[in-house]
Amino acid sequence: MPTKTKKNHTEQEKVEKYLDYILTIVKRRNPHEKEFLQAVKMFLHSLTSVFIKNPKYMEHNILERMVEPERVITFQVPWVDDHGKMQVNRGYRVQFNSAIGPYKGGLRFHPSVSTSIVKFLGFEQIFKNSLTGQPIGGGKGGADFNPKGKSNNEIMRFCQSFMTELAKYIGPDIDIPAGDIGVGKRELGYLFGQYKRISGQYHAGVLTGKGLSYGGSLGRTEATGYGTIYFVDEMLKDADLSLEDSTVVVSGSGNVSIYAMEKAISLGANVVACSDSDGYIYDENGINVETVKKVKEQNSDRIHAYLKEHQDAKYFSDCSGIWSIPCDVALPCATQNEIDRVEANQLLVNGVKAVAEGANMPCTSEAIRVFQTHDILFAPAKAVNAGGVAASALEMAQNSSRISWSFEEVDTMLQEIMKNIYTNCVQAAENYNHSGNLVIGADIAGFTKVADTMIEHGA
Ligand code: GLU
Repeated sequence: MPTKTKKNHTEQEKVEKYLDYILTIVKRRNPHEKEFLQAVKMFLHSLTSVFIKNPKYMEHNILERMVEPERVITFQVPWVDDHGKMQVNRGYRVQFNSAIGPYKGGLRFHPSVSTSIVKFLGFEQIFKNSLTGQPIGGGKGGADFNPKGKSNNEIMRFCQSFMTELAKYIGPDIDIPAGDIGVGKRELGYLFGQYKRISGQYHAGVLTGKGLSYGGSLGRTEATGYGTIYFVDEMLKDADLSLEDSTVVVSGSGNVSIYAMEKAISLGANVVACSDSDGYIYDENGINVETVKKVKEQNSDRIHAYLKEHQDAKYFSDCSGIWSIPCDVALPCATQNEIDRVEANQLLVNGVKAVAEGANMPCTSEAIRVFQTHDILFAPAKAVNAGGVAASALEMAQNSSRISWSFEEVDTMLQEIMKNIYTNCVQAAENYNHSGNLVIGADIAGFTKVADTMIEHGA
């Protein structure tokens, strides 16, 4: 008779071999999709113990199905610029997994958008959406279009052309896009206008993040940033720490960053820096969020313009330098892979106590390893920034019942959702003997619900 530990050992080897095999398949199918492979690899890493305990997942080939999107749509987006010249971009929508609800996820307009980027975001979205506790599947889309420097009319024509094709694949019970980098209220307005014209129907619930006058939800704009801080607050409290009087660095200056700063400041934190893709500002007196909002409202302005109103602040023209500022809490809220090993070590040397990902996959696996091996509190994106999509699902609920909730009602629900996500991550990590590891906790809690549902639905 093999002893129990010996048996566990062989079980572990079997599972690890299986997870390696899954990664091999994904690599073979998608050899050039760097970011997608990175996201899958990091995710598989969390699953060993859940597969040892639940052989059913292997028996049902759940992972083979999960790593393959249900549908990948790419399309041409032709549009005419202000000089009358025809331009062409590539549009994407990845409908990754619909086990627990219709596809849900944002659209990103940025020159870096590729199949790999959209697939990594769509893959993460499956588990993020599952963590919210709401019935939404995972999807993502966008285009390699650069909104920077474009006129309003160019943005409008681009959005109209993009939606002319996308409209064929979406619907309030099929796939519900929203914003992401480069897609805010203005773009969503143009996208919605075109969807309405093409479909001939007023389906408010086909997009979320809409303007308040046509079905948008109070609290949606703030939700990703506020939700990030609600999560961080829970995590710090559990470790007998607090945001009050702590020094916080927040990268980015978009929607997530602005409202993370606003909420952190309201809880007593001193937020000293934020950034854009050109550089970062350091304001010892504390960042004035209203100024950042004003700068960002002028679409062509860069964060450097903050200095016009705050002469004491300093500007540095290398955005990754922001991580050399000593802080207690670091919130990467800009974009993927902004913190690698070097930046992580810099934060560590400067005494960082907690790192939480407001952006999607802003820390590389090497960076996460640095934090975890030095017992720095670390909170992963799919849990931390889930407040945005959670509020989107609340917007969908309001659209379906044709009502509008107050800001306080939405914000109270958001707080509850973020608390639950935190508790579920902690619990899942504990249940699988990884106490304190929120990366594993989030992955397991997100995964099991989707996997169990897939089994219930059959092949
Ligand atoms: N783009 C956001 C995210 O990464 C929001 C998606 C949504 O609201 O559907 O979760």
